[in-house]
Amino acid sequence: MRPEVSVVFPVYNEQENLDVLFERVHPVLEEAANGSFEVIFVDDGSADGSEEFLDALSERDHRYKVIHFSRNFGHQAALQAGLEATRGHAVVLMDADLQDPPELISRFIVKWREGYKVVYAIRKRRKEASWKRLAYWVFYRSMRFIAEIDAPLDAGDFCLMDRRVVDTLIGLPERNRFLRGLRSWVGFKQVGIEYERDARNAGDAKYSLSKLIGLAVSGYVGFSSFPLRMAAWLGVSASLAGFAMTIWVIFSRIFVPHVPQGWASLIAVVLFVGGVQLIMLGVIGEYLGRVYDEVRQRPLYVVSSRVGFADNKVSIETVEFADQILARE
Ligand code: UDP
Ligand code: MG
Repeated sequence: MRPEVSVVFPVYNEQENLDVLFERVHPVLEEAANGSFEVIFVDDGSADGSEEFLDALSERDHRYKVIHFSRNFGHQAALQAGLEATRGHAVVLMDADLQDPPELISRFIVKWREGYKVVYAIRKRRKEASWKRLAYWVFYRSMRFIAEIDAPLDAGDFCLMDRRVVDTLIGLPERNRFLRGLRSWVGFKQVGIEYERDARNAGDAKYSLSKLIGLAVSGYVGFSSFPLRMAAWLGVSASLAGFAMTIWVIFSRIFVPHVPQGWASLIAVVLFVGGVQLIMLGVIGEYLGRVYDEVRQRPLYVVSSRVGFADNKVSIETVEFADQILARE
């Protein structure tokens, strides 16, 4: 039987947060989903004891399940693995560091029962470093400006999705996943709920600056051809400027006595045009890299074992154990 609600937590070295997380999530689910729920932790290559904690939790309560990755594959891959494993009528995605308050799940479920297929959380205020807040602010606004989808402002991955939406998302073929963008792309009846984003409960952010930049680039490149088109626009403006310059040169040659021999302006123009060309090569490289990524068709992640699933695929440990027994006979 399908549980009412599935919750997916990507976990990367969150040992210090997991017990508080359990204490806050469990009562909410018992009440809001009448105990008909499953929680899927995707252990994204943790090495701080999170793995053992989750396995023990799953042992105690079979509604808690764990997927262990063979190494760190990243947050978006973990979300994808979690989505694929869920069976609930509704699926909630949230972070394991308690920045997404579990109590909001009840409000999600109320909206879902009203008929909305996607309920996402909108961050009203963030309790984070100011440079990070500024970066997010710029990202979401520029994304809205150039993206070909209508992505809501300040909405992260924290959301509830109906089964229909989840099945559509899982079926999308692309490998470069920018989930909050894809979620807007699929459509259906969507609604946002405002909340204040808490600070992380404990530990440091697991998203490094380079991972965050990677995510932002995925957003831009995955949902817009604007950066590519920029080449054309820059080219047009550079040629117009060059044209104006030529006219000026001819004009001054004829009418102005003693024209200064401006090599400095020449260098400036050469550098500018060279810079524009390099930038645009970089942009094209970004798209090309992604095309290459898609063509290779490597899986998004590799699972080393699954714990607590009824249809438990045979894990490596089980295979080794069986081999040992066979060898003894
Ligand atoms: N996470 C993950 N793999 C990673 C990085 C992060 O599964 O490579 C998880 C992490 O454990 C947390 C969530 O993704 O549950 C969000 O990470 P974090 O809090 O570091 O991101 P931020 O809140 O700074 O955006
Ligand atoms: Mg966080």
